[in-house]
Amino acid sequence: MQWLVTGGAGFIGSHVVDRLVERGDDVRVLDDLSSGRREFLSHHLDAGRVDLRIVDLTDYEATLPHFEGIDRVIHLAANPDIRLGTRVTDTDLRHGTIATYNVLEAMRQHGVNDIAFASSSVVYGEGAPLPTPETHGPCVPISLYGASKSAGEGLIGAYVGTFGFRAWIFRFANIIGGRGTHGVIFDFIHKLIATPERLEVLGDGRQEKSYMLVEDCADAMLHVMDHSDEPVTLINLGTEDTCSVRRIGEIVIEVMGLSARMDYTGGDRGWAGDIPKARLAIDRLLNTGFSLTCHSEEAVRTTATLLFEEIAGSRVGTQD
Ligand code: NAD
Repeated sequence: MQWLVTGGAGFIGSHVVDRLVERGDDVRVLDDLSSGRREFLSHHLDAGRVDLRIVDLTDYEATLPHFEGIDRVIHLAANPDIRLGTRVTDTDLRHGTIATYNVLEAMRQHGVNDIAFASSSVVYGEGAPLPTPETHGPCVPISLYGASKSAGEGLIGAYVGTFGFRAWIFRFANIIGGRGTHGVIFDFIHKLIATPERLEVLGDGRQEKSYMLVEDCADAMLHVMDHSDEPVTLINLGTEDTCSVRRIGEIVIEVMGLSARMDYTGGDRGWAGDIPKARLAIDRLLNTGFSLTCHSEEAVRTTATLLFEEIAGSRVGTQD
């Protein structure tokens, strides 16, 4: 099978590519390397197993030719930083909504019908019941990032209904693990390297969300795609429990072997547009026969250990 993975040089994308290569499939990656890194794929590039093409998906003419000969698309490319929308208000429109339209239209032009899409729990907006089932609605996101994910879901539904596409829409919880380049654990490690005696925590530390290990996320996506062929499969990906930001701070401090104090900036959320409490109902995922390898706190500890090694290792490299 010939796959095309947009954003395949990114954090989640590179793990999805690992799994596809392990299955023996052919993989083409489109990525502009804005937050992705060539080295996340270097083990496959050196072996000639992955065809990496540097393309900006906001440019339709540049995007179109790369969909020739593709069987299935996994569309992961997007701006990953929800907070950026508070300062640069067209980022999610361009790299989320317009890029998704360009992908769908390039697929239509080349007769490619199958798409998996990385959506997010933030589409549910604020005040959703916890755990939140896929049937919850109406969904009114409160960030520009969330708005672009909702728009992407809507465009995909339109291409299914109008042009006979088949889609798997995944609403991710917080996905964490090795090769992470953003998010709370990544931020805490960098802050603690700069000031080992003190950790600044955005909000009151009581924000509580679910954390899923990236390997589980990649496996779950491929498992669901293998086990359902409805016109649209809409499914939450996460864990059944949560971990608070305060607890994440404690774990990161412990993993780094420090005894830092935690200072809270206050307020119930980290930034405007943040959803302080999120937990997804994952019955649909479990009913497909998928099993998670770990829950939130274990995922946080594993990630803190891996990222601390990666970040410390890269700092040693740059100091030579
Ligand atoms: P990431 O930044 O590592 O991956 C995004 C990739 O897209 C990067 O490789 C980047 O270079 C690429 N990209 C961005 N704009 C592009 C463009 N215009 N053209 C081509 N490539 C472009 O982030 P990630 O955490 O791996 O996220 C992958 C997907 O999952 C994103 O769609 C993100 O919104 C979604 N998601 C992630 C999480 C999470 O917790 N990490 C949660 C919910 C949803």
